[in-house]
Amino acid sequence: MRVGNLDGRAVLVVQDRAGDLAVDVAEASGDRFGPDPQALYGDWAAFAAWAREAELPEGRTFDRARLGAPVPAPRQILAVGLNYREHAAESGFAVPEGLPPVFTKFVTALSGPVTEVTLPDGGHTDWEVELVAVIGRTASHVSEDDAWDHIAGLTVGQDISERISQLAGPAPQFSLGKSFPGFAPTGPWVVTPDELDDRDDLELRAAINGEEVQKGRTRDLIFAVPTLVSRLSAVLPLLPGDLLFTGTPAGVGLGRDPQRWLAPGDELVSEIAGIGELRQTFASA
Ligand code: ZN
Repeated sequence: MRVGNLDGRAVLVVQDRAGDLAVDVAEASGDRFGPDPQALYGDWAAFAAWAREAELPEGRTFDRARLGAPVPAPRQILAVGLNYREHAAESGFAVPEGLPPVFTKFVTALSGPVTEVTLPDGGHTDWEVELVAVIGRTASHVSEDDAWDHIAGLTVGQDISERISQLAGPAPQFSLGKSFPGFAPTGPWVVTPDELDDRDDLELRAAINGEEVQKGRTRDLIFAVPTLVSRLSAVLPLLPGDLLFTGTPAGVGLGRDPQRWLAPGDELVSEIAGIGELRQTFASA
């Protein structure tokens, strides 16, 4: 099942010979679920059970630029740093052990999958394609074996990062440098894990103006999704509709020689096989 946000309304995205079609959840369920896309995650088990059995009406074609963030108002966004060995090395940090290094991307940075992002004046703006897990059931002290049962689905995220503000000061402040408006594109929709051949081994890629800059696989995560849910939920409860950005593979601009930053006019495409793609263009302030 693929669940999206079209013009602020929850939709199921179904595949047809003609392409992707959107079915309005509130209309199809007689107002039992939706139209608020965020509210689905508060009642996820009932919604998923309905969606699997429902006789859906025919969907409508749609313009992807009208898709919003599939999970537009999470109460918490947890983002994990340095979760692939080669990326930790290119960033100049040690490989983490024990508790995953976590920051937040503030909710106001969220956007849908197709956007124009304003580059902060004088900044060094970088790219990080990431798998994002969406919590579907409150997770508190969850074991690794039970972790996937607490995930509603997966989506693509870009952890866009302004490196000067991220790394300034006596201690790095990841959260602010990664939370300028539009710095957290997500989508194009949430895909339930049963749709994927192997939910623990997904290929991620990012390309700038058609040139591939990142390519990785989630089997190389230092802390895989179940480990993240288990270790983080031992500290704080993860709530239905929360987002978990799981970290980026190697190939970011910070780790290049010479370093490279996003420039006005650049187009960044971020994709995960089996889920979909994000498309960001960049403009000067
Ligand atoms: Zn990141």
